[in-house]
Amino acid sequence: MVHPHRNYNFSAGPATLPLSVLQKAQEQLLSYGETGASVMEISHRSQTFLDILDSARTRLRSLLAIPKNYQILFLQGGARLQFSMIPMNLLESSDELADYVITGSWSQKAHQEALKEATPNVVWDGATHDYDRLPQWDQLAFNPSSRYAYIVSNETIQGVQYQSCPSTAPLPLVCDASSDLLYRPLHLEQYGLLYACAQKNLGPAGVTVVIIRDDLLERSPDRLPGYLNYRLHAEQNSLYNTPPTFAIYLLDLVCQSIQETHGNLDSLHQLNQEKADLLYQILDDHPDFYTGHAQSDSRSLMNVTFQVPSENLLDRFVQEATEAGLANLKGHRSVGGVRASIYNAMPLDGVKALAEFMIDFKNRNA
Ligand SMILES: *Cc1c(COP(=O)(O)O)cnc(C)c1O
Repeated sequence: MVHPHRNYNFSAGPATLPLSVLQKAQEQLLSYGETGASVMEISHRSQTFLDILDSARTRLRSLLAIPKNYQILFLQGGARLQFSMIPMNLLESSDELADYVITGSWSQKAHQEALKEATPNVVWDGATHDYDRLPQWDQLAFNPSSRYAYIVSNETIQGVQYQSCPSTAPLPLVCDASSDLLYRPLHLEQYGLLYACAQKNLGPAGVTVVIIRDDLLERSPDRLPGYLNYRLHAEQNSLYNTPPTFAIYLLDLVCQSIQETHGNLDSLHQLNQEKADLLYQILDDHPDFYTGHAQSDSRSLMNVTFQVPSENLLDRFVQEATEAGLANLKGHRSVGGVRASIYNAMPLDGVKALAEFMIDFKNRNA
């Protein structure tokens, strides 16, 4: 263990952060640079904070190769507020259409919120398969008069994830990437709007990153409350009101640590693939004991979900894992079983330790 009191934390979110980030934040907590104050204690309009904001944006732009015609906004309200802000901003009236692809709990919830703003069209719903797979993309029929198409790139609760970015052209693709942004490189040009709350892969809870193409900003109706208007946030450099300064500072540190540790998202993607393969190999090798929730071609590299043979064994799995320093493995109540969240910040050694535990647990209980 790198720290006597830190375990390997498989929490789905808020989730584990890189140790180096926490250490740096600790070092700088009482006085940031020459300021003589914490980042928490300085004005969001001070040059010191403006530099942090700029650094966070520049690092995201560089890591994700975000083209110039996209704005990066730092908002509050979590991913949930985006469920409403998206239809409020991208639909000019409630008669306009939007297409939703429902692959799990988070797309289901986004669709429910969108129903309050308009009449979104469900293009596909994986409920009949218990959300264990993604759709056959070429068989989906999007409505050409829809104003956008909505997907969730990684369903955090079920553990299903698109491995490549589907195209919905000419409809602008809107994507909730809350639990997988920065896990691999993306082709940003394929998206109209891409967003993520921070507390899975980017930093602590409290800030949500919205990456939006310039032309979509034109749609935001003036009648919207100020805070809910994307265009206003873009015009005001995400300083329309006081932004979550400390969360943005930590997000910047997370991006810096990715740049320093991995260089780019290609090498981070390889590592994430290697981590996920270790666990999925065990599910494939021992299907009589471990049953994966996701179909093989829809498996998530971020959230590995599986069942053990009984509720009794599940309780023991979770308890014995906790005693072995492998924490927060209990699955979401709606799916049950085990969920191992292995985001960017989960080290390979943590996944290896879990893999060993799984083999040992099976040998003792099969
Ligand atoms: C966690 C999560 C959300 C909800 O985020 P909040 O910040 O709690 O609103 C939405 N979508 C996905 C894919 C998530 O993983």
